[in-house]
Amino acid sequence: MQHVPLLINGQFIPSTTSQFIEVTNPANNSVIAQCPCATDAELAAAVASAKQAFLTWKEVPVPERARVMMRYQQLLKEQHDEIATILSQETGKTFADAKGDVWRGIEVVEQAMNVPALMMGETAENVARGIDTYSYIQPLGVCLGITPFNFPAMIPLWMFPLAVACGNTFILKPSEQDPLTPMKLAELFIQAGAPAGVLNVVHGGKDQVNYLLNDADIRAVSFVGSVPVGQHIYKTATDNMKRAQCFAGAKNHSVIMPDANKQQVLNNLVGASVGAAGQRCMAISVAVFVGQAKEWIDELAGMISKVTPGIWDDAESGFGPLISPQAKQKVLALIAEGKAQGAKCLVDGSTFSLAGYEQGNWVGPTVFSEVKTHMSIYQQEIFGPVLCCMVVDTLDEAIALVNNNPYGNGTSIFTSSGGAARKYQHEIEVGQVGINVPIPVPLPFFSFTGWKNSFYGDLHAYGKQAIRFYTETKTITARWFDEEANAHSGAGEQPNMTINLR
Ligand code: NAD
Repeated sequence: MQHVPLLINGQFIPSTTSQFIEVTNPANNSVIAQCPCATDAELAAAVASAKQAFLTWKEVPVPERARVMMRYQQLLKEQHDEIATILSQETGKTFADAKGDVWRGIEVVEQAMNVPALMMGETAENVARGIDTYSYIQPLGVCLGITPFNFPAMIPLWMFPLAVACGNTFILKPSEQDPLTPMKLAELFIQAGAPAGVLNVVHGGKDQVNYLLNDADIRAVSFVGSVPVGQHIYKTATDNMKRAQCFAGAKNHSVIMPDANKQQVLNNLVGASVGAAGQRCMAISVAVFVGQAKEWIDELAGMISKVTPGIWDDAESGFGPLISPQAKQKVLALIAEGKAQGAKCLVDGSTFSLAGYEQGNWVGPTVFSEVKTHMSIYQQEIFGPVLCCMVVDTLDEAIALVNNNPYGNGTSIFTSSGGAARKYQHEIEVGQVGINVPIPVPLPFFSFTGWKNSFYGDLHAYGKQAIRFYTETKTITARWFDEEANAHSGAGEQPNMTINLR
């Protein structure tokens, strides 16, 4: 049985702990690895290594740091299929989906390659006579990343490449449910030339995270995961005077206007709702049909019912199993509540089972109509292949519905009216908006900008905001007393020019 190693000070080492968490293949729940819960001494060693490495890494010129990212990007591309295979095996994602997970991470590494330009400060000459002001962007120190199970390549890659490119050192605590993919990412990072201690990877759950949140040497915390954990991490990190950015749960609505292109809407909503088994923080989980668009609900349900779950290397699989038996139980309980509370279950995936893989965490595609806001299936994040359909009469009602929801990660509108789209993008209180684009995840030269209960913090992931998050700005005001040079430039002399303000 494979024991997942720790990465401390450039060495992949076995943990000395006696506590392990099983890593399973979600298709049949067979155990594929044992994930250690790192000891306090191992966590302390990771922090000490990162602290020591920071002293030299921050002095490495920024173009050299960018070159490490270039080599890293090349290695990730060369081993794209190998990483995606590991990822599929531990998450159950289809191979195509797993490749997408890795690719979205590679795109962030490409942004990290641009770090010299992104770390340029500002200058202003002669802010007072003979005085110039300029600013530098400097790294913070040791940064921590805590990541969820659902994107084990993309989300770690949202964090450590940019933090490290900025000159910081990093400790990653990946999800204990799928730590093998992050370890492969770490292995390639070392191969790309990252010096010992620049990236450390430790494993475990709540206790390991809490230890790190209380370590005074950690300056900034990036977290992605569920709402209660996000709130806890944001509060603890900021109480401990750390910078924090915490990306949390979601309930993403798609608003379908009757003037939209019907076929485009239906094709888009199928993948956006049940794709990746609905285990995407940007999945569309609520479709809001405006007016006559409600007539498309049955056809959409029919299309979704044809998407069949399957194993990762079967090209016919529409999506894979859920990550764990607990995740499956939670989704089944919500489906049962939806039925009990009066929603109409048009497609019921709760009894789905895959022949030969009966022990796996399977849930089939599920569609509810006549969903109301008081129902649990509307109020809670389901994180499974379940779409809730609702009907309203006007665009204003749709906007009010979305704005009353406590989450604000993503939303989309389907329409052929520029006016409706413009009104929606302006009035909607959600951080990422798609117009005839179902899942509007911004590319890494923008930032990932969830709002409300989907994000706690100020500066978001990747893009210019991440550079700000992982750095300090130092502003210098300078005057040079050089008699000879000043004699020619006029600096230091009393002005003899009068400015007429009128
Ligand atoms: P999770 O909150 O259970 O776990 C996330 C991380 O926190 C893991 O590394 C875990 O070990 C750690 N953790 C768990 N409980 C903890 C505790 N009590 N104290 C300290 N640390 C703890 O989330 P998950 O189930 O792995 O991921 C799914 C969730 O992530 C969903 O809610 C989804 O919406 C969210 N998510 C959000 C985004 C976004 O960008 N907003 C992106 C991806 C996933």
